[in-house]
Amino acid sequence: MADASAPAKSGKVVIRHIGLLLSGDIDRPVLDADTIVAHDGLITAVGFEADCDISAPTTLIDARGTCVAPGLIDSHVHPVFGDWTPRQSQLGWIESTLHGGVTTMISAGEVHLPGRPKDIVGLKALAITAQRAFDNFRPAGVKVLAGAPIVEHGMVESDFKELAAAGVSLLGEIGLGSVKAGAEAAQMVKWARKYGIQSTIHTGGPSIPGSGLIDKDVVLEADADIIGHINGGHTSLPEQHVCELCEKSARAIEIVHNGNERVAIAAAKMAMQLKCPHRVILGTDSPAGSGVQPLGILRLVAMLASLANLPAELVFCFATGNTARIRKLNCGLIEVGRDADFVFMDRAQHSAGRTLLESVELGDIPGVGMVMIDGIVRCGRSRNTPPATELPVVVGG
Ligand SMILES: [Zn+2]
Repeated sequence: MADASAPAKSGKVVIRHIGLLLSGDIDRPVLDADTIVAHDGLITAVGFEADCDISAPTTLIDARGTCVAPGLIDSHVHPVFGDWTPRQSQLGWIESTLHGGVTTMISAGEVHLPGRPKDIVGLKALAITAQRAFDNFRPAGVKVLAGAPIVEHGMVESDFKELAAAGVSLLGEIGLGSVKAGAEAAQMVKWARKYGIQSTIHTGGPSIPGSGLIDKDVVLEADADIIGHINGGHTSLPEQHVCELCEKSARAIEIVHNGNERVAIAAAKMAMQLKCPHRVILGTDSPAGSGVQPLGILRLVAMLASLANLPAELVFCFATGNTARIRKLNCGLIEVGRDADFVFMDRAQHSAGRTLLESVELGDIPGVGMVMIDGIVRCGRSRNTPPATELPVVVGG
């Protein structure tokens, strides 16, 4: 297991010969540029090679005409500690997901911890510990934003103030604990928001025995920042109710891999119809009963592009720039000052699609050729995706 707890600085990184540059920005998904320059983990220039200072790099990468996109963000995971999940007794699931192009993961609650404390002092202690642990340790270099407490009956304003002061910036899915009523959830969302803590609500039927139903009226009344797994995790609300949530709420529409696929497509189409594609963000909701999906975000991108008939370059924004903006992260967009987190992709070998974007629109997942986080190469050719037709190479520095 690679320990990137104290990452070295990348120095100057030059990436040239980019064939297709996806920006992550839904208002302008494709950039007219072939070169990226980064310095110590941050992007310093994006443009054509002739216009960039490409001299004396520490690392020089020839993209060989492949596609570069911001590293993918999984908006909904359930980590516990390190690169271990007790949900399916697996080790190395985060490192394996890096091979699916994911560079940032956001916890929706460390709910799988065996013996998870549900008393207030215990749940606060767990959240603070998880936040610290993942801040200090990045499995395979992946940025895991964790420490997402599950709210329980009896929490008061000072609990949220205390959590925020201790560095907690997320709530786990509301509804996984004892708070399931709209008014009570709304009060806790307000307290969280007051102290800068972002909230997510579980939407739909119970995930596993012991959890409960959260219906559309509760979601609307709670008014959490993220309508968590709007397509269910796994059991969805009726399609009509999901469309109503898209229409009546202005909050983020989170679509997950481990949800109802038919409703995922309906929610994405509804967001397009309502002219709010910037609200759509993607997650896997893994580990879960259905397992861990290292390629879950790529599979979701291919499913939405192919079955909701959306341009692939737009769907990549759901998994990058949209999430970064909604979650206030410095990654997810190719622009000066942002984190140098990149995924290099090409059409999978023997895909019926002639280009990367066409292959995704035909339902194929791309081949990942390299992943960088903070300007540092974290993996070369993915061991999990189908082989990419062309691969980037590190040519020196
Ligand atoms: Zn859930």
